[in-house]
Amino acid sequence: MADQREDQHAPGATATIEDTDRSPRVANRAAFTKPAEISSYEIVTHYFKAASERLGLPDDVEAVLRSSYREVQVQVPVKRADGKIHVYSGYRVQHNGARGPYKGGVRYHPEVELDEVRALASLMTWKTAVVGVPYGGAKGGINCPVQEMEPSEVEAVTRDFIHKIDRVIGPMRDIPAPDVNTNAQVMAWMMDEYGKLHGHTPAIVTGKPIALGGSHGREAATGRGLVYAYREAAPHLGLPPDQTRVSIQGFGNVGSWAGRILQGLGCKIVAVQDQQGEIVNPDGIDTEALTKHLREGNHIEEFPGAEPVAVEEFLSTEVDVFIPAALGGMLHGDNAHLVNAKMIVEGANGPITPKADEIFTERGIWVIPDILANAGGVVVSYFEWVQNLQHFSWDEREVNEKLGTIMRRSFREVHHRSREDDVSMRIAAYQIGIERVVEAARTRGYL
Ligand code: NAD
Repeated sequence: MADQREDQHAPGATATIEDTDRSPRVANRAAFTKPAEISSYEIVTHYFKAASERLGLPDDVEAVLRSSYREVQVQVPVKRADGKIHVYSGYRVQHNGARGPYKGGVRYHPEVELDEVRALASLMTWKTAVVGVPYGGAKGGINCPVQEMEPSEVEAVTRDFIHKIDRVIGPMRDIPAPDVNTNAQVMAWMMDEYGKLHGHTPAIVTGKPIALGGSHGREAATGRGLVYAYREAAPHLGLPPDQTRVSIQGFGNVGSWAGRILQGLGCKIVAVQDQQGEIVNPDGIDTEALTKHLREGNHIEEFPGAEPVAVEEFLSTEVDVFIPAALGGMLHGDNAHLVNAKMIVEGANGPITPKADEIFTERGIWVIPDILANAGGVVVSYFEWVQNLQHFSWDEREVNEKLGTIMRRSFREVHHRSREDDVSMRIAAYQIGIERVVEAARTRGYL
């Protein structure tokens, strides 16, 4: 879920599969790269129910935790360059606030709809609880075609949205952040609009530009968090970094940072896929050079340091670690059998459907779940909020060290629980998250 992408112009983030798939090698590429038909809501609800049943939560408590606390839908009209008013829908869903102010990103995408925002909001509740940052879970979105819009139109939509949800957000109430297709600039507009109504309030959003109170280390935080998760997990599989081969699906903010940091540790990134294609090099892909190549607007398959391959070949490349860092539902019942890895570290929110999860469990592939592995972004967002509230700034070394401490501790807690209860890391993480939320809610007298 995540929440907080900072780079709207991340490599490969624009065109559709149909637009850009020019490879005659695979007629069925779209079928292989399309997310599963199951919705994010169904995926998250399935895992939540599996964990809540194990915990023996009473039905009434389960019903409270399954539904949202508040769902706001607003009309967001904007006069566009064609002279017409276009009307979009804006959503802010606050799932559960027992542990602190609501926290979660805002996504701009034509396919944003309430059910998906709901699912992502609930993931934030469990994620913030698993890593122990004092927040509840929220998510937002506007169903606007942001990639066709002028910056001035995006600004107008952003300001109108904040104006309309003003009453339900606040630095001690609900703190938005970037997500898919929103970035530091959008956060700056949000902060400015909120400031017009309430005075200068940097802590109202995270993922801001550094000049406006953003945190050092935020841009790389989710990728760096994935690497901390890998480093904790790898010794259990006897995998030193210099013998670790990695495949990355999705090479935007999360995937490219994870790739670059892993390469710095000595891992070999042997396969990469983005929306446009897939490449393999058994001797290792230079991820710094690939990031630059994509930033310059080039096609992934034209990268000189690797060979283009068919999508099936990308998925079945033999690796130690597979990192899905693209969309939800990308690994599903029809393609999970192809994945040839010892460990999967989930960068995306909900990238594995329940059917694929079952297949990975049967095949002994160790899955480090999203609500643990990709929590680095919200952890550093928490640091940003704390720095804003203190009117103080930390350097990047301090941010990364504190992130490492939280990720290591969280991994060990989830791993310990997984062993103790003989359940997957995912169910263990959900159990810990749910227990912490229930404890907070009961103590406050909500349940
Ligand atoms: P991004 O837009 O920067 O990158 C997405 C990448 O996925 C791009 O390389 C794109 O080409 C690729 N992609 C898109 N559709 C694809 C397809 N069908 N097949 C293969 N590749 C495809 O986004 P991001 O910020 O890196 O986020 C990636 C995922 O991680 C999302 O699920 C997001 O919710 C989650 N997440 C992000 C953060 C964060 O801090 N950015 C935090 C937590 C979770």
